[in-house]
Amino acid sequence: MTGRDPAPLGAEQINAAGERTFTSEGAHAGVTDAIIVAAGRGERAGPGAPKQYRDLNGAPVLLHSLRNFLALPAIRRVVVVVRADDRALFDTAIAALDADYGGRLMSVSGGATRQASVRHGLEALASMATPPTDVLVHDAARPWVSASLIQRAITAARAHGAAVPGIAVSDTIKSVDAEGLVTATLPRPTLRAIQTPQAFRFSAILDAHRRAANAQGVEFTDDAAIAEWAGLPVHVFEGEPGNIKLTHQSDFGTAPASEATLAPATANLISRTGIGYDVHAFVPGDHIWLGGVRIASDLAVTAHSDGDVALHALTDALLGTIGDGDIGAHFPPSDPQWAGASSDRFLAHAAKLVRARSGVIDHVDVVIICEHPKVGPHRQAMRARIAEILGLSETAVSIKATTSERLGFTGRREGIAAQAVASVRLPLLT
Ligand code: MG
Repeated sequence: MTGRDPAPLGAEQINAAGERTFTSEGAHAGVTDAIIVAAGRGERAGPGAPKQYRDLNGAPVLLHSLRNFLALPAIRRVVVVVRADDRALFDTAIAALDADYGGRLMSVSGGATRQASVRHGLEALASMATPPTDVLVHDAARPWVSASLIQRAITAARAHGAAVPGIAVSDTIKSVDAEGLVTATLPRPTLRAIQTPQAFRFSAILDAHRRAANAQGVEFTDDAAIAEWAGLPVHVFEGEPGNIKLTHQSDFGTAPASEATLAPATANLISRTGIGYDVHAFVPGDHIWLGGVRIASDLAVTAHSDGDVALHALTDALLGTIGDGDIGAHFPPSDPQWAGASSDRFLAHAAKLVRARSGVIDHVDVVIICEHPKVGPHRQAMRARIAEILGLSETAVSIKATTSERLGFTGRREGIAAQAVASVRLPLLT
């Protein structure tokens, strides 16, 4: 599936929800492109790769930001501004984009400053056969930009020509002098913390950037400041508290963050369901692994790994949501490294693959089919263990069990089976 063809100038836009947009009085119809600025060094984030290329939940920060824009059909093209030294990092990062973006994605090299980098992006769009009517400028280090925020930015650009997302500040803000003495306490109700994406009429911000580039000693940290300097009225629309900018090393954390904080844009996610099924045969033994729990038994399962049918079925269900083969493809039984492997590793890997595609795991449901062992006494432990492996709350994990009325192989206690369903949300085009 390719991205839809760029809309001609003046065409109505249809948003992700299928609604006609930008028809309000005073607004103009048009075409919106986006620039994602990824050329910074991010030295406050400490040593290591630049922050936009660091891993966040299994994928580079930049990739999460990029997907949130590419997932919206109302964004025609995305230009990523890349530092020349980072070209290999960038190529590696976007190699994980497995969708065909239909020529909607391009990149240009950045400049010595953020301001110069944005100008390179603007000039790249200006040089194209069909420049946009409006442009959004977004910092790559804000990976949680939501579809609704992007949509508000598009609407605000059309209505106001220059607009930025802002949120009320909860801290008291003071200005201080060089000695650290307070010179003023600023009136909090009038203050806004400004985020990106910042939204502009393309011709106006291009002109402002060109003039700023020609002016001596004029250097700004955001594009609104350039617009203000150029005399453009800048409107503030509602930002989002979750649209944080990853700045310091501690922002990345090392512990797994909760699903809520890892959730990328939600309005542009589509639901997918995956299914899994697994069987293992019984042999005499002393324990069975089931749902991540070790159950004492006079039977065991024959398997290359620990033979946990519940976790195997669930692993396949998760892989199914991203169309990424099955457990055997990822962990071949012929590979000696998986001999006796604990199946929580398989399940955790599948969850990581989903999240590396900016996916959100909403719910999993497992049914275990057997005459033996009795599942009831272990159901809560299985639920807790699976929730732990997947980083979900227990309310998002369901474990059920049934016998097959002594019919068939499970009824004859020759083996055990499990089925699983996983529900996830993924960006539209991944
Ligand atoms: Mg299996």
